[in-house]
Amino acid sequence: MIEVDCYICKSSKKEHYDSENGHNIVKCMECGLLYLNPRPEQSEINEASKSGMHKGDELLKVTGKFKEYLKIDYLSKLNDFSYAVMFSEGKRISWLDIGCGHGEFVETLANFGGKNIDIIGLEPNIKKLEGARERGMDIKFFDLTTHQDKYDVISALNVYSHLPNPPEDIAKWCDMLNEGGELLLQTGDSAELTAEFHHKPYSLPDHLSFTSRKLLVELLENLGMEVLQVETYRMGQYPVFSALELLKEIARFFLPGHVATFQFFPKYPDIDMWIRAKKISK
Ligand SMILES: [Zn+2]
Repeated sequence: MIEVDCYICKSSKKEHYDSENGHNIVKCMECGLLYLNPRPEQSEINEASKSGMHKGDELLKVTGKFKEYLKIDYLSKLNDFSYAVMFSEGKRISWLDIGCGHGEFVETLANFGGKNIDIIGLEPNIKKLEGARERGMDIKFFDLTTHQDKYDVISALNVYSHLPNPPEDIAKWCDMLNEGGELLLQTGDSAELTAEFHHKPYSLPDHLSFTSRKLLVELLENLGMEVLQVETYRMGQYPVFSALELLKEIARFFLPGHVATFQFFPKYPDIDMWIRAKKISK
C-alpha cells in the first residue's frame, strides 16, 4: 500500500471521509476530491483490473456477466446526447470504448451506428474480453500509454473511478483524438455529498476516487476540451419503487455476488453523470 496526495490539486491536506472493506476514503481539504488513501501499488491495481479480483477484508469479485437491459439504457442516453446527428452525416466514425466490460455499450453502438461506425472495445479483464468476443464484438486489450492510433470518439463509462491518475489518463485519451474528436465519459457526481448520503457500497479498493461535476468539467477544460453537454441520471443502484423492484431487491439480497441497497428513496438519486466534450482545434 502507498500513501498518495490529491491528483487534482496536488494538496496533501486530507481528512477522513469514510471506511469500507478495510480501506479508507479521504477528502481533499483543498478541492474536495474523494480518494482512496492509502491505496494499492500500481502493479497491484494493474493485476486486479486484469483478473477482476481485489484485496480487502473480503476479496471483491467484479467479473459479472453481460447485462442485456443496459443496452436499452445506453440507447436512450445516445438519443439524449443526439448522437444520431453524428451518424447521419454519412462519414465513417472510428470509436474506441475504453473499459468496455462485457461489451454492452459496444454492441449498442454497433447497432446504432450501423455501417457508419468502426467500434473497438478495450478491456483488461480476460473473462469479460473473451465473453464479448464470443458475442462477435471487436474487443482488444492493448497498452494505451504506447498506443498510436487515433479516433473520432473515445468513450469511457464507469472507468474514471478506477483510474489511478485520471488527469494523466484523460490527457492521453485527448492526444488519441483526431482533430475535432470527442470524449464521452460517465462517472458519479458525488464528491460534494457527505458520507451519509454517498452511494454505497463504495466498492473499495476497486474504486480509487470519486469526483464531482465541477472538478471533472475543470479537468477537461484544462486539457483543452470544450464541454458540450452534461446530463445526470438516477444511479443504477437506486431502484425505482414498485412491487416488482422490491421482489428483485429481495432476490439480490439472498443471491451471492449481488448487492441489494433497498434504497428506493435516496436523498440524492441523480448523480450518474455523463459528459460529452470536444477537442478544441488548435
Ligand atoms: Zn485536491
